Amino acid sequence: MNTSTITDNILSARYLRKGEKTFEDICHRVASALASDEKDRELFYEAMTSLRFLPNSPTLMNAGTEIGQLSACFTLPVPDSIPGIFDAMKQGAVIHKTGGGTGYNFSHIRAEGSPVRSTDGVASGPVSFMKAFNAATDVIKQGGRRRGANMGILNVWHPDILSFITSKKEEGSISNFNISVMVNDEFMTLVRDRKFDEIWIKHPVTGVKVTVGEIWNGIVDGIWKNGEPGVLFYDEINRHNPTPGLGDIDITNPCGEQPLLPFESCVLGSINLAACINEGKFDEELLDDTVRMAVRFLNNVIDANVYPIPEIEEATKKTRKIGLGVMGVHDALLMLKIPYDSPGGRKWCGEIMHRITETAVEESQLLAEKLGTFPEWEKSTWKERKVRNAAMTTVAPTGTISLLAGCSSGIEPVFSFAYTRMNTVGKTFFIVSPVFKEALHSTLSEKGHSGDELKKREEEVIAHVHDTGSIQDLEWLPADFRSLFKTALDISYRDHIEMQAVFQKYVHASISKTINMPNSAERKDCEEALLAAWTLGLKGITIYRTGSRDSVVLSLGNSE
Ligand code: ADP
Repeated sequence: MNTSTITDNILSARYLRKGEKTFEDICHRVASALASDEKDRELFYEAMTSLRFLPNSPTLMNAGTEIGQLSACFTLPVPDSIPGIFDAMKQGAVIHKTGGGTGYNFSHIRAEGSPVRSTDGVASGPVSFMKAFNAATDVIKQGGRRRGANMGILNVWHPDILSFITSKKEEGSISNFNISVMVNDEFMTLVRDRKFDEIWIKHPVTGVKVTVGEIWNGIVDGIWKNGEPGVLFYDEINRHNPTPGLGDIDITNPCGEQPLLPFESCVLGSINLAACINEGKFDEELLDDTVRMAVRFLNNVIDANVYPIPEIEEATKKTRKIGLGVMGVHDALLMLKIPYDSPGGRKWCGEIMHRITETAVEESQLLAEKLGTFPEWEKSTWKERKVRNAAMTTVAPTGTISLLAGCSSGIEPVFSFAYTRMNTVGKTFFIVSPVFKEALHSTLSEKGHSGDELKKREEEVIAHVHDTGSIQDLEWLPADFRSLFKTALDISYRDHIEMQAVFQKYVHASISKTINMPNSAERKDCEEALLAAWTLGLKGITIYRTGSRDSVVLSLGNSE
């Protein structure tokens, strides 16, 4: 195993700027660009170099450089006109160029087959335009650092919903988009009551009718076959919209953790919970200090940011939303010896997230005392508290920054405790989780193994994990060890959803998480998961059934 080599590789490929050689150089540049005083500069630098807090990739790449675009998440409106649609495409291209991802809701575009007055023609519908956005993304390479990412959303009450749901049926099509259906409570209630024959929409021109059952089966079938579409819950998102006076929310960023108003953007940053553990104990004071520092950090980003277009600057500065999240959650649980899929695991996570959000709100209040509330505070739900930011917490995927920090990503359970990873130049690395390795060593020692025999046993277990991803079938290992070291695929999908729900209870925005299912899962499991997600108050859900797509980024044995 060689985690640091991988880290070096990611760094040089993505974050190092001219003249920079080390991770410390990057942290120095970022801290200097963002701190408002010397004390914070030191705090920002220390939190990043100790890998306890990292901002999203665009901040690491662009802070203190000419590009200066620091946010990961953007949402753009797409109106129902040719100039409007292509304006959105142009705005998206500019954002991709600087490393941001864009979310669009295509529901304003009139249905396929509708009349086009000026030309006497017929409209080609939202799906055809989504393909054009996809092609545009292909040609923007983001300076070779990230491939552009988009979210495409269609409301369940749009007449083209069936063709949208099946638009990614062919593997590899519209590959620069994640797609999600925005459902509402009315639709979900009909599904729950199994009113599948009810007519849900009628095409305004052709008169074609679509039933609840056709749409629901389309969604479930798509998920079962290849993990898409995702599902977003419109009413739940809007029940928690912090600024209802500025309009409803019907768009999210590419990975779904940020439901935002049109033209808003959000900068993310994540605290590595595993780095808040000292000698087996979770350091709550260190967490509180880190949260306060992170809120000031992210709030400063809003002012230091170079916005790609004026509309985005205006919308972002009206609400000043920031996205503070967590990573290394599973690692922290393992270090504290609490199983992820247990009542104790959920309790601990709920308490920690509650604490993070409360502390973040307090810090935002302090900022408001000094600098004033966010401009649209009067139109917000923050009646009791004067805060600087309309929303503070979220859970990002932390895809790259968790690799950099060497911790488990976001709130996801570890995928495998041993795997091979290939870097961008094709070199492979055999990686074993250090927490697992250490715990295995002491468990086997306690069982009386020693010397060469102990070493042989360790190697045997690690090879088994590498090949199968699990230790659950190694019955000779102690039961408590096995129940602690469960991986994403050992954990039932219900436990995945419950963990997401625990975090969602305390998180202001939304959560990026994949609900993993085994390959043997059936369509009815997907149905049950979607209904559970709605009932438990999630704002969105992404399900992936193992092996349902040919190519996945991380798989057992050899992975990309
Ligand atoms: P990182 O770990 O690199 O900071 P995350 O994996 O946490 O990023 O993703 C956070 C958000 O950044 C995503 O929800 C999405 O909005 C945006 N994003 C992620 N990957 C890309 C990409 N390749 N191109 C553009 N935006 C991206």
